[in-house]
Amino acid sequence: MLGTLVTEGFQLTDDPQKAEVVIVNTCGFIEEAKQESINTILEHGHLKKAGACRVLIAAGCLAQRYQGDLLKELPELDAVVGTGEFGRIAEICRDLLTPKKRHRRLWMSQPPYLYDELAPRMRLGAPHSTYIKVAEGCNRNCAFCAIPLMRGKQRSRPVESIVAEAKRLAHEGVKEINLISQDTINYGVDLGLRQGLVQLLRELVTVDGLRWIRPFYLYPQQVTDDLLDLYAGEEKITKYIDMPLQHINDHMLKRMHRLGDRAAIESLVHRIRTRIPGVSFRTAFIVGFPGETDAAYDELYEYVEQSQFDRVAAFLYSDEEGTSAVEFEDKVERHVMDERRNALLSLQESIAAAKGRSRIGSVLDVLIDGRSEESDGVQEGRHEGLAPDIDGVVYIDEESTAATPKATSEHTVPLLTAGTFCKIEITDAASFDLVGRLVTHPAN
Ligand code: SF4
Repeated sequence: MLGTLVTEGFQLTDDPQKAEVVIVNTCGFIEEAKQESINTILEHGHLKKAGACRVLIAAGCLAQRYQGDLLKELPELDAVVGTGEFGRIAEICRDLLTPKKRHRRLWMSQPPYLYDELAPRMRLGAPHSTYIKVAEGCNRNCAFCAIPLMRGKQRSRPVESIVAEAKRLAHEGVKEINLISQDTINYGVDLGLRQGLVQLLRELVTVDGLRWIRPFYLYPQQVTDDLLDLYAGEEKITKYIDMPLQHINDHMLKRMHRLGDRAAIESLVHRIRTRIPGVSFRTAFIVGFPGETDAAYDELYEYVEQSQFDRVAAFLYSDEEGTSAVEFEDKVERHVMDERRNALLSLQESIAAAKGRSRIGSVLDVLIDGRSEESDGVQEGRHEGLAPDIDGVVYIDEESTAATPKATSEHTVPLLTAGTFCKIEITDAASFDLVGRLVTHPAN
């Protein structure tokens, strides 16, 4: 949307007070995300009185899901724009800014929209790290999940389109690309590709300039040896697996309509760890799914304790209209869900802290992200086991960089260039973050 708006002559501002048009890009995944989206719309609604705002738009998944209801319930909104209409955002804004054409309405279609390499794109965030969406939609049927209702069936972008975009990004200085979709292990199935993700990765590693390629959201099925060998043997593919498992109890997995049981998951996790030495493993679980007994939860807790994953996210189950789990009657009380999530996260925090401490003394390749916003005199970066935005960081003490040839004693300029790779020796560890000192400057 940003790319289209800029190409069409709109000017962007990061100060909502100054914006004539405010677009809230919403999420409709689970209750907490929906609430956050609605609160953001309400917070920005007051800008029509207190700021320059003339038009307030809700776009994205919540918009796609609730359509007219959203327009009815939130009178501050001028338009609700679904996920199939992103490409028309400039036209929509122009209409709403034209008095004669202006009327409150829905902009909604089935969501076939899928951007290609020619779509204008404007990236926010670090210039050296970005996301590429490789497919949209999902063909699976998990009992708790509303995403297929909002995003439709899977549509993959052709390999050539993704590679063309990756080349352009590398040319712009991007070093790390993060491949996202709702079901990345299934990439290319709708295009008739066999082992589509393997084919895609084989092409992407040939793109000059890229250093890290990181696929996200691997469903725990159809993980072939070819894929794992590619991870193990190809330097550019990060030794990082992001695989939401959702639960480990067989009865829960079946009720969730997940493919595979505990034995299959354990064998897959073992195979991944054996074939990709040193792999960082991130997963996610849902707690409080209907019918989750104390025993089923205890099994999950013990599994997390045994498995020693690097990162674990835990989501609270919420009833989502249109999903099959809504019909289940044995719902878990909210306070029980909260207790279960808190216990799981606190267990994982101690596991992550121990894993961090075990890295003290090692020297790692770290991609420098820039000066830390958390504390003065510190820069930060990430090793390949830390994904941007969701995992921890490596803090680098600036004093360790001051003695190096390129460094300067002026601490008002960044000492290490964002987007370069440095050797960092890990000297300390906190729950999710590491602390290190510069060993060698980047050769690149
Ligand atoms: S695979 Fe993921 S996106 Fe697809 S239905 Fe299941 S949870 Fe939802």
